[in-house]
Amino acid sequence: MKIVFRLRIDHYVVSFLMMIFLSFNSRLVFSQQNSSQKEIEKKFDSFLNPADLKARLEKLSAHPHHVGSPYDKENAEYILSLYKSWGWDAHIETFYALFPTPKTRVLEMVSPEKYTAILKEPPLKEDKTSFQTDEQLPTYNAYSIDGDVTGELVYVNYGVPSDYDELARRGIDVKGKIVIARYGASWRGIKPKVAAEHGAVGCILYSDPKDDGFYAGDVYPKGSWRNEYGVQRGSVADMPVYSGDPSTPFVGATKDAKHLAVKDITILTKIPVLPISYHDALPLLQSLNGPVVPDSWKGALPITYHIGPGPAKVHLKVQSDWDIKPVNDVIAMMKGSVYPDQWVIRGNHHDGWVNGAEDPLSGQVAMLEEAKAIGGLYKNGWRPKRTIVYCSWDGEEPGLIGSTEWVETHADELKQKAVVYINSDSNGRGFLFAGASHTLQSFINDAAKDITDPEKGISVWERLRAKRILDAPTPEAKKEIETNKELKVSALGSGSDYTPFLQHLGIASMNIGYGGENEGGVYHSVYDSFDHYMRFGDPTLEYGIALAKTGGRLVLRMADANILPFNFDDFANTILAYLAQVKKLTNDMRETTNALNYELKNNLFEEAADPTKISLPPKSEAPVPYLNFAPLENAIDNLQHSADAYQKIKNELLESGKKLSPGQLADLNKIIFRTERTLTTKEGLPGRPWYVHEIYAPGLYTGYGVKTLPGIRESIEQRNWDEATRQIIVVANTLNNFSGEINKATEIIKAVLK
Ligand SMILES: [Zn+2]
Repeated sequence: MKIVFRLRIDHYVVSFLMMIFLSFNSRLVFSQQNSSQKEIEKKFDSFLNPADLKARLEKLSAHPHHVGSPYDKENAEYILSLYKSWGWDAHIETFYALFPTPKTRVLEMVSPEKYTAILKEPPLKEDKTSFQTDEQLPTYNAYSIDGDVTGELVYVNYGVPSDYDELARRGIDVKGKIVIARYGASWRGIKPKVAAEHGAVGCILYSDPKDDGFYAGDVYPKGSWRNEYGVQRGSVADMPVYSGDPSTPFVGATKDAKHLAVKDITILTKIPVLPISYHDALPLLQSLNGPVVPDSWKGALPITYHIGPGPAKVHLKVQSDWDIKPVNDVIAMMKGSVYPDQWVIRGNHHDGWVNGAEDPLSGQVAMLEEAKAIGGLYKNGWRPKRTIVYCSWDGEEPGLIGSTEWVETHADELKQKAVVYINSDSNGRGFLFAGASHTLQSFINDAAKDITDPEKGISVWERLRAKRILDAPTPEAKKEIETNKELKVSALGSGSDYTPFLQHLGIASMNIGYGGENEGGVYHSVYDSFDHYMRFGDPTLEYGIALAKTGGRLVLRMADANILPFNFDDFANTILAYLAQVKKLTNDMRETTNALNYELKNNLFEEAADPTKISLPPKSEAPVPYLNFAPLENAIDNLQHSADAYQKIKNELLESGKKLSPGQLADLNKIIFRTERTLTTKEGLPGRPWYVHEIYAPGLYTGYGVKTLPGIRESIEQRNWDEATRQIIVVANTLNNFSGEINKATEIIKAVLK
């Protein structure tokens, strides 16, 4: 009893101290802002109207609007007219990119039985746009090479590298075979890449109901989830090498740009790929024999899952029209009244694979609502201090084309002027999610505390915090969230339009949205429609309004900030945590490797194996050396001192009431927003020079999934110790440059306080 009471007191004292700290902290933040900031935001909110979002969502999703389609163009022109009507200086910027569309798609089982895959998503009477079959892109994977192959089938689970290790232990080789992999666990483009690396000649992707279908809930149209005919389209280019138009790496695909010949493009798949539904996958999987799959490989189809190879033998033929198609970005600008050469950039794509009500229009209509409200402020005489740029991207689905080509075309100007890039994409009912450069973590936290959750009436920050505490796996993890004044933002990998800004130019970026209570099941299918979204996505569009309030606050606060609200302490603490992770990764690998080699040496695999089954021991590995992390540890120490010193002197400045001259302020802010540029290197990451950010990158073998400290982490994962040692020094130098910039910012303030 006594102990419980003590704990409560302590908890109360801690909470009380935190309250004082938080209110002190938020006063500091607020005092930096324009004194009328709250008034401006109140006014901004008064322009937002869910009925406008709904009307725009219905109009933009009325027809399929993939790259190069007539309705894609019509939508771009409609979006342009909206920006103009709200007072923005807007134009369409068109690029010309390689975008293959299907000409021939054949998938048939030739033995032991005949089955021809239907490769179609049938119209449903409950879904009015599903009848537009003439306008729809057929089910396919863009940037699969053309091919006509026949071979025995092998089931490879998710088709990630560790799955092939399992196959090897069963003595199964996919050389000359066609693999069938389920969607999930990695980005889809990784699956054919790994299959080809292992010698497969073709790759079939399918949505298993365990991951995406009736296992999750009732299927469409009764419920939301993927029905047996639903197919996930999508790009299979090797995007972790570079994004954008595959035929114009590093340069904008403008009218007169030189395009690589298709045969010279390195990021197309090496083998033909086709996505199918679980209706089409069932007869194929049912015709496999060979070993029964491990438990973790089992899906939810009513069969015993076997690996093969065969006896199922399939014929796969894929041919595309390899045409150059127009990509229409809509760019809207509002010039800054004080710092016209400092740009706050906001974007969301407008192209879809088919009707795309959720992906991307749910985010697009919220973003347009922000632009409308900012236009409303402008008409009332308000002017942003910094230039605001709103971008409705085209060509995101095939490979972030609209954003990447724009970034590559305007790279020099953006390096000079871009303060931040704020991205959104699909949106729905639920909880705030935010990925970002960690210098922006506290900025996002502050905004999230000022937005009311439409369902609960508390702030979206409090609601997310409650969920995070409940979801935390251990008492320690719960306590950490409870005592932390900020909610951590996740690191950015890839999968939407922030990639070229953050990872190709080093522009501090954020990706925001709501979700978790909306029901899925229609990703990249014809059933991602207005009818589906209004039942399962966000029926009242109130979370669209929440997104507009979030995006709007981030844009307005960044545009009008006196001193840009970058927080280097958060960044330093995050890097320290990443260092601990890569050290632990190395130590764990060392122990696992030692254990494995001991087990091999002592014949344990053979002794334990079931003699009625093929069970080969895994390959032995060379011992893991001790790496010298000291350069990185010293650089992080340095960074922490620089970050602390800056934060301290910034607080002193705010308390002193002293003001920086307009010239000093301009210099200071320029240093602050360009710090992220110093996190890039000229050479880029090993084997992929397009990706130049040394802290955040999509994984070479995860795709969307982020790898932080990617040069170091991936070298360790690939057991390339020399490269890991080199990368430790590269990252250490990068962080030292970053700290040097923070020190310059500190010096400017120091001079004023003297
Ligand atoms: Zn999207």
